[in-house]
Amino acid sequence: MSSLTRGALFEAGAVDQLQASMRGELVRPGDAGYDEHRKVWNGSIDRSPGLIVRCAGVADVRAAVGFARRHDLLVAVRGGGHSFPGLSVCDDGLVIDLGPMKGVRVDLEAGTVRAQAGVLLGELDRETQEFGQAVPSGIVTHTGVAGLTLGGGIGWVMRKHGLTIDQLESVDVITADGELVRASEDENADLFWGVRGGGGNFGIVTDFEFRLCPVGPYVVAGPVFWAMEDAPEVLRFYRDWIADCPDELMTIAVQRRAPALPIVPPDLVGRHVIAIVACYAGPVEDGERVVKPLKDFGSPVLDFCEPKPFLAHQQTFDPSFPHGWSYYVRSCDVAALDDDVIDVVVEHGSRIVSPISSIALWQMGGAVARVDEDATAFNGRQAGFTFNINGNSTTADAFEAERQWARDYWSALAPHHTSVYVNFLMEEGEERVRQAYGAAKYDRLKALKRKYDPTNFFRLNQNIKPG
Ligand SMILES: Cc1cc2nc3c(=O)[nH]c(=O)nc-3n(C[C@H](O)[C@H](O)[C@H](O)COP(=O)(O)OP(=O)(O)OC[C@H]3O[C@@H](n4cnc5c(N)ncnc54)[C@H](O)[C@@H]3O)c2cc1C
Repeated sequence: MSSLTRGALFEAGAVDQLQASMRGELVRPGDAGYDEHRKVWNGSIDRSPGLIVRCAGVADVRAAVGFARRHDLLVAVRGGGHSFPGLSVCDDGLVIDLGPMKGVRVDLEAGTVRAQAGVLLGELDRETQEFGQAVPSGIVTHTGVAGLTLGGGIGWVMRKHGLTIDQLESVDVITADGELVRASEDENADLFWGVRGGGGNFGIVTDFEFRLCPVGPYVVAGPVFWAMEDAPEVLRFYRDWIADCPDELMTIAVQRRAPALPIVPPDLVGRHVIAIVACYAGPVEDGERVVKPLKDFGSPVLDFCEPKPFLAHQQTFDPSFPHGWSYYVRSCDVAALDDDVIDVVVEHGSRIVSPISSIALWQMGGAVARVDEDATAFNGRQAGFTFNINGNSTTADAFEAERQWARDYWSALAPHHTSVYVNFLMEEGEERVRQAYGAAKYDRLKALKRKYDPTNFFRLNQNIKPG
């Protein structure tokens, strides 16, 4: 594998020829925009690629793939740049940056929307909510549609409308040999199965076509907070309350220290709190009735669960996860919120030190669980809850202690681990990727990899090795 920064790597002028053929921009070390474009969301990742190809369209993607292949370069593919372990940037090699590809087209008659690979969740929401529609996606609006979709996509309306991939109609893919391949249930169905959970292993998806779902534009949504000392009672109430709840209701339990935001009273800032964040993806009157027991439980210290635009609710977590801080995540699924799990949550949640570390405990089930487990490469549809344990820091000095807190929390849950969501993995090695898919699916994905990318050209991802 060549490096773009060492020695004479390819014939003189090759980079200039590439630039001349492109609509987009090439960014090289030393260029004005280089530092801006090599940065990814996770500030703990600091890599220096030899070349960044900012693609304006499919032709640029093909040119970049061909260039990398001819010069045997390591390739990173970037959608929204939100890979937790920073898999969309590399040292020395070539970054294929899809960020400029921002096209979104709603087709109300067909009930679909097409989004190019550089679109962020908030941008897709903006276009679809204009018509009271949405694609089920994630909970932070600056996340990329591309990487999120390719891993599965969990979010506020999934219990009603399924994972992001459950509303995927078709994709356009540029394969490792530069071919443009369309995949859907009717065309290249094996590839379509693989891209719905198998990540970027099989090629670069340049265009996504989704089915639209009616959502909002107003929903009853938001967090209710209690002091962390109340966590044992809150979690037991919560478990019982959601046991038979309608699919319209989706919740996430959060533990953190109350943030210094204008909406948080000064005497609460820094105190350990537990929140249940709800979103009712149905009529507002029904939502108000369904969330009332939550709002009435115990002695909440803050309550922001109320009717609001879905677009506003989608931004709830944005201030908690800005670009540039140091982020580390440990994740696992568990079958149920039984008393042992609650004990772990109470104990380790109370140990949070950093003002920006947190956990999110996602309620799964509903429409997600009703899709056949073998229908897509995504694994873990029967999970009861997904843990996202975020050991975060604004300073490099404090980062290791936060990572250790996250690892300890995760280890304490080990007896309860079932599966793990592939998009919540760090770089944890082949065995963990295998665990994420389960043995049978992993083997099927390997066979698909041998067919579509036998040389493992696309390897900077949760990699499925062809061999
Ligand atoms: C703040 C934050 C919030 C999150 N919230 C959620 C959530 O609510 N729900 C959820 O399901 N996940 C969530 N995630 C996880 C998220 O789904 C993954 O991090 C996802 O990979 C991000 O996609 P991206 O395009 O932004 O990332 P990138 O870093 O650009 O890419 C991630 C991976 O996908 C590959 N890739 C990107 N684009 C393409 C493409 N077009 N074709 C082929 N391969 C490609 C990259 O090479 C890389 O391996 C969140 C992550 C963060 C950081």
